[in-house]
Amino acid sequence: MISLRNVSKEFNSKNMALTGINFDAKQGEFIYVVGPSGAGKSTLLKLLCREEQLTGGSIIMGNTRLEKIKTRSLYKLRRQLGIVLQTDLFIPYYSVFENIRYCLEAVGSGTFADEKRVQAVLKEVGMAEYKDSYLNELSIGQQKKVAIARAIINNPPIILADEPTANLDAKSALEIMKLFFKINRTKTTVIMATHDSTMVNTVRRRVLELQNGYLIRDEENGGFSSIA
Ligand code: ADP
Ligand code: ADP
Repeated sequence: MISLRNVSKEFNSKNMALTGINFDAKQGEFIYVVGPSGAGKSTLLKLLCREEQLTGGSIIMGNTRLEKIKTRSLYKLRRQLGIVLQTDLFIPYYSVFENIRYCLEAVGSGTFADEKRVQAVLKEVGMAEYKDSYLNELSIGQQKKVAIARAIINNPPIILADEPTANLDAKSALEIMKLFFKINRTKTTVIMATHDSTMVNTVRRRVLELQNGYLIRDEENGGFSSIA
């Protein structure tokens, strides 16, 4: 369902963030993207949601070439994607419910964010009782859960997550990871950049390892590090 062919991203002539990336992802796969800071993990995720445009190669999602999508049609792509970024944009003085509704409207998804659906996804992530809390009253882990609720509200076939357990304590990190595994069990493809070596080594899935913008490993049930 996702194919990358010789994908490159050059931010400027001195800086190739990604070079010649090739891989295919099937519906329902869970893929960890690992590698040191600056390896290109975030850039890869940003290319997949067209937050950044590739400078070489092609990304095919379903039957669409991402690099050919016109800016005005991007909302169609975004409807197919749930995105959990490192810095999730929320409005601090809006409630959880208002934030989710606002973001759906802002992305022009055309979805009517009815209260029942918001309530249902908040329940799914264990945040039902926080619907009317303000975002700035929540812990980082709770904010992550709201970000996940927002990402799954349209039942997207693909979820992209950039280090969703960064800055979380072990207990919260585990809860967040369990949510992603649960979402994946419903055949949602999950592509997750992570530094969580324990998780990658414990719950084995496909691993893509980036280094200096090159894909140096693509391994089923791989560990966090090829050396280990
Ligand atoms: P990672 O997520 O693995 O830490 P990134 O994808 O953030 O890596 O970065 C890969 C490389 O691309 C780094 O050298 C980074 O400095 C560079 N880079 C990322 N975003 C930009 C940008 N907007 N402009 C210029 N260089 C960038
Ligand atoms: P991440 O690794 O998640 O991208 P960073 O702190 O490295 O987090 O980057 C934060 C933002 O700055 C991102 O949007 C990234 O694209 C951008 N960025 C990263 N490196 C550079 C760079 N060398 N020049 C310009 N922008 C950059």
